[in-house]
Amino acid sequence: MARTVARESNPSAAGLSRMRDSGGRASGTGTPARQPTGCRPALRERLYGHFSAPCKDGGAVSYMVHLKCRECERTYPLEPLAACEECWAPLEVVYDYGRLWADLRREDIAPRPANMWRYRELLPLKGEPWVGQQTGFTPLLTASNLARALGAREIYVKNDAVNHPTLSFKDRVVAVALSKAREFGYDTVGCSSTGNLANAVAAQAASAGLRSFIFVPADLETEKIIGTQIYGATLVKIRGNYD
Ligand SMILES: [Zn+2]
Repeated sequence: MARTVARESNPSAAGLSRMRDSGGRASGTGTPARQPTGCRPALRERLYGHFSAPCKDGGAVSYMVHLKCRECERTYPLEPLAACEECWAPLEVVYDYGRLWADLRREDIAPRPANMWRYRELLPLKGEPWVGQQTGFTPLLTASNLARALGAREIYVKNDAVNHPTLSFKDRVVAVALSKAREFGYDTVGCSSTGNLANAVAAQAASAGLRSFIFVPADLETEKIIGTQIYGATLVKIRGNYD
């Protein structure tokens, strides 16, 4: 089983192993793997509410074009790649912003359920998300003292400490990464972490029916990764420098 390990700074590149059979059963787990089933109106309604875009590629409209290196700008196809082969810089998803600008309207998004998938046209899935139905849409808090100190009229702070399921902003990237992992047909995910990413991957992997392997420094405080252990991830303690 080939695995790579993602740094916490690049959680979207979480390490993955691809499903080995095509019969819809996650290899090694004995757990039937759900397969993309195309447009599912009931689920789509629950996740996005009224959604005006037509179905393509087994889900909603995708505006993804290709992957592009953040440093040297070399482009790659939309495949499970984490880093540029030329310079090892991270890859980013390039969207068709012209078409997005033409198609996407505020009034389409506004009535959708209050989760991160209400902005799904700006996220890199072709089909439906597997996790993250309670993730995102966290509140903005006024920071009047900070505004006064900086001479601003109003300042708002995004409170991702009430994000779900693990009360961390990492829940957002992990929801995307694990949904994309399922879309690519993987049954196992992993990451290296010192806490928040570990908990988010473990929790959402459990929700998505994925196996998870979490690599942490051997001397990491137990309190930081209790959540990881609760959700049944395989914890691998590594002696040595985290970098
Ligand atoms: Zn590059």
